[in-house]
Amino acid sequence: MKKLSKIQKAIEIKKILDQRYPEPKCSLDYASPFELLIATILSAQCTDARVNMVTPKLFAKYPMAKDLAMAKLDDVANILHPLGFYNTKAKNIIACAQGLVELYGGEVPMGIEKLTRLGGVGRKTANLIMGDIFGAPSYVVDTHCSRIVKRLGLVEKSIKSADIIEKKLREVVPEGISTDFCHMMVHFGRDVCNARKPKCDECELKELCDEIIHNS
Ligand code: SF4
Repeated sequence: MKKLSKIQKAIEIKKILDQRYPEPKCSLDYASPFELLIATILSAQCTDARVNMVTPKLFAKYPMAKDLAMAKLDDVANILHPLGFYNTKAKNIIACAQGLVELYGGEVPMGIEKLTRLGGVGRKTANLIMGDIFGAPSYVVDTHCSRIVKRLGLVEKSIKSADIIEKKLREVVPEGISTDFCHMMVHFGRDVCNARKPKCDECELKELCDEIIHNS
């Protein structure tokens, strides 16, 4: 295959993965911007499937930011127990809800800067909200995305910081495809390009990949 620029490569990867993931979506369950924001904070160091097991109970008890803002830490931590790090997560989501109430009248604001003023909200969460709630171009750099874009040679391997990986991705993944592209990386990381044992032999991106690993 002829040598592609990084931008061309990103576009080609998206085209190929369109076949596998015609409608890539976030796998967290939610019914409102508030719920997605809280579920995303909870998904740190935890699978989305596990988060989806606790959020129905959480949102039944605290359906809006104002309800969670007034919650008792122990009550919330009890609900979050199956997730691990439940005390820290409870503190983070209560702080986030309090910020929503105090700064934004209980509504989830639009804008990375506004979102990252909230407790527990980093750039990954803010980007997810920008893309999935507001339909803005977003660059969600989670562990899957970070690993795969390096293997594919879109971002230098030596870069560790998620914020710098996001900056690099902004240079090579066009805005019009960025939200879907990042969702695809998450699904592809679970299905094919696993951390420990990527399925390179059956991978549809191997022609484009800088790091084919032969497991057989
Ligand atoms: S060839 Fe292997 S390392 Fe490269 S993207 Fe595919 S599964 Fe991942």
